[in-house]
Amino acid sequence: MSGSSDVIVVGGGLIGCAIAFRLARMKISVTVFERGAPGCEASSAAAGMLAPQGETVAPDAFYQLCAASRDLYPDFVAEIEEMTGQPVNLRRDGTLMVAVSEDERLSLNNVFEGQTRAGLPLARLTVAEVRERAPLLSPRVAGGLLAPQDYWLDNEMLVRSLHAACLSCGVKFCSHIGVERFNVCKNRLDSIETGSSQRLGGGCYSAHTYVLACGAWSSEAAASLGVRLPVRPCRGQMMEFEVSSDFPVAVRSGHHYLVPRSGGRLIAGSTMEDAGFEKKVTAQGILSILDSVCRFAPFVKDLPFRRAWAGLRPDTNDHKPILGFGRFENLVYATGHFRNGILLAPITAQLISELISSGSCSLPLDEYSPARFSC
Ligand SMILES: Cc1cc2nc3c(=O)[nH]c(=O)nc-3n(C[C@H](O)[C@H](O)[C@H](O)COP(=O)(O)OP(=O)(O)OC[C@H]3O[C@@H](n4cnc5c(N)ncnc54)[C@H](O)[C@@H]3O)c2cc1C
Repeated sequence: MSGSSDVIVVGGGLIGCAIAFRLARMKISVTVFERGAPGCEASSAAAGMLAPQGETVAPDAFYQLCAASRDLYPDFVAEIEEMTGQPVNLRRDGTLMVAVSEDERLSLNNVFEGQTRAGLPLARLTVAEVRERAPLLSPRVAGGLLAPQDYWLDNEMLVRSLHAACLSCGVKFCSHIGVERFNVCKNRLDSIETGSSQRLGGGCYSAHTYVLACGAWSSEAAASLGVRLPVRPCRGQMMEFEVSSDFPVAVRSGHHYLVPRSGGRLIAGSTMEDAGFEKKVTAQGILSILDSVCRFAPFVKDLPFRRAWAGLRPDTNDHKPILGFGRFENLVYATGHFRNGILLAPITAQLISELISSGSCSLPLDEYSPARFSC
């Protein structure tokens, strides 16, 4: 790495790259250390739903953070598309939530009541209206809701374009280089130490401020700080099928969903498994996804199968992200985004870049503070 940077970001997933991008747009120099390729882990494995309403029964403070990030998405994507000329395919057609069983119908009723009482836009659809929007769904679908502001996008395209946008505004990437140690001096970080690479060799690098954005591996990365960061992996398996005509809408039922992708692809997910760092696709995982999506979309069982993969969500004890300064005065945490890291990338980038550049930020971060875990 020639020259030093104002900020070193450790972890080049969507969260680390979005923060680097925002900082670079503020003319702050940034280097990202990523032990694989940028975006190669959970950020590429995800389904790409930007669905604050689909993840909530009744809106709370965390919903507000998610909705604020969703609202930043159109401008965030437009900025990246304009800089790179590469499309990201943000779809603002809304997301269908459907029920098959009586229990599911009752839980959709609760969602409808909780969200409409809070003034959120949500339409209750009859069976005929659901079928009009997604004619291939099962005749057993007993009704549904349409969340018009739950968007979706192709997160693999997003990570590629964001990486290109970062490069074009001067972010330096040290890819395929893992950070092995943080060196501490009193209550400050002094430097990071990397493993060796053909290009750079192992080395010691310093900056004014450091960002820890290592996703599911954040706890491992923080070990040399003497901090027990409560972030653990939650495995999610995914499948991709070929469709002859584009499926019209993202559909979910509970934690299972179908999300259209361009080029005649449809993805189905997902599992939520405590399997450590094993990123395996398992027969059990595939079976459980197929069982669940075929209840509301039986046509899936006849689709040509293309591929399956697994990724690791960064989960925390309260399933909320860890954002902001903690015990070390020049180290910011940006991790633990669990099921919502794609959705939360723009707001995380905005708040963390504000914190680094001015010491304060435009939304209160107390609920997400590392101090709640003594970090
Ligand atoms: C199956 C699945 C479906 C999902 N669907 C959605 C969805 O629809 N919507 C949504 O909002 N979210 C979804 N998520 C969650 C979302 O993917 C994550 O919350 C988000 O990607 C986390 O981003 P990140 O940058 O923190 O982590 P990651 O993308 O995992 O990036 C962390 C990076 O840090 C690097 N790293 C780790 N340790 C080191 C080190 N020591 N040195 C250097 N680099 C290091 C890793 O190589 C990795 O690239 C899903 C996740 C999964 C697995």
